[in-house]
Parts: sequence; structure tokens; C-alpha cells
Amino acid sequence: MVRKRSGRRNENRKDKAITSVVQLSNIINSPKVFRNRIRDVAARDLLKLGKKHGTRGNSETNSNICRMCKSILIPGKNMKIRIRDKSIISTCNRCANIKKRGPMFHQELK
Ligand SMILES: [Zn+2]
Repeated sequence: MVRKRSGRRNENRKDKAITSVVQLSNIINSPKVFRNRIRDVAARDLLKLGKKHGTRGNSETNSNICRMCKSILIPGKNMKIRIRDKSIISTCNRCANIKKRGPMFHQELK
């Protein structure tokens, strides 16, 4: 009988997921190399991976993806950026999803 270690297998799967996240992030962050259509697909896969395996790209990569329509947000091209009350308000042109990022976004409120 073949000995199976399920724990090991899960580890491998997670490793693969992390490798994929790195590759997808590279695609997303290389607009000069990859076409937008390819980057959109990469963005979709990246979000899918994050949901499935709990792996995520870096925050910069993640913040450039629209959560609603899962497309890459390119400032001035398919997204609008407005600054109001010290927070950044970005609007996706494709699905009109509005995202707010304020100066306190990464800080805990005390
Ligand atoms: Zn959108």
C-alpha cells in the first residue's frame, strides 16, 4: 500500500498557489509586456486564488484590481481618481464601483 500524507500534499498545493500569485502579480505589474486583456485574466485568477488558498498579492497589486468586475484599474484610462477630505476615491469606469482609501486606511483607530 502506498503511504499517503495528506498534510504534505496540502503544503505543496499552497506552495503552488504562492508561486502562481507571484507570477500573476508580475503579469499585472508589467503593463508594457502584457496586454490589458491578459492582465485582466491574471487579476481574476489572482482574486480567485486568494479566496481559495488565502494567498494574496501585495497590497499594491490588490488595490489596482476592481473587486466588483475584477478588472485591472488603470488611472485615467478605466478608472477615475478623486481626492476628497484627504481620502482617495477611485471609481471603476466599467462597473462604477467606488472605492475609498483614506490616510488612516492602514492604521488602527485609537
Ligand atoms: Zn469594476
